[in-house]
Amino acid sequence: MDADAYHKIMDILRLSGVQLLAVSKTKTTDEILSLYNLGQRDFGENYVQELAGKHAVLPGDIRWHFIGHLQSNKVKIIAPFVHMIQSVDSLKLLLEIEKHAVKNQRNIYCLLQIHIAKEETKFGLNEKEFDSVLQSITSLKSSGQLSKVKISGCMGMASLTANQEEVRREFDTLKALQDKLARALPEDAVETLSMGMSSDYRIAIEAGSTMVRIGSLIFGERQDAHK
Ligand SMILES: *Cc1c(COP(=O)(O)O)cnc(C)c1O
Repeated sequence: MDADAYHKIMDILRLSGVQLLAVSKTKTTDEILSLYNLGQRDFGENYVQELAGKHAVLPGDIRWHFIGHLQSNKVKIIAPFVHMIQSVDSLKLLLEIEKHAVKNQRNIYCLLQIHIAKEETKFGLNEKEFDSVLQSITSLKSSGQLSKVKISGCMGMASLTANQEEVRREFDTLKALQDKLARALPEDAVETLSMGMSSDYRIAIEAGSTMVRIGSLIFGERQDAHK
């Protein structure tokens, strides 16, 4: 864990009022604790079992964010403790989260993951699917069927490219959908726009990000291939 890098990033974020989600996938609990001891409380994980294991042994005031692809049948494992699920990419998943949030009598904050990148491999809703999910959310809410799920905003990953204009265009697209979501749900606190990673967080901030998800800049490169 690179404390200097962390402080440098925090200085930049503080100036722009942007939150840091420290992405700790594949990192050890000791590495997470070192960052926790510098004051960091929001951590992001991509894998259900890895997250459950870390939650069990790390301090209870950590806010855990799930940012990986989530299968409906695994929601129950993280529902008792997860703070935010940033990777909601279907209505079915949202309804499953609501069910388990109710069961656990707690709120679960959710972001809609939007597919903004050129790569097909990345997950998320396209614009048409976003519109359709948004319509369903609006009607579920008006009939009181989304009580414990709190729709807080959008999340997206830009293309992995050196073309900064392309990245900026993708972030602008995401920001436009965030604004649309906020207009459609005026009574919800749609305030979190999660965009920007180690390689592109400065562009994301310029484009209106409120939360950047940073792993390798703070923890060092991951050994394995998984993203
Ligand atoms: C791994 C990951 C990150 C962090 O990536 P870095 O390049 O290490 O900063 C951010 N968001 C998501 C969804 C990820 O899977």
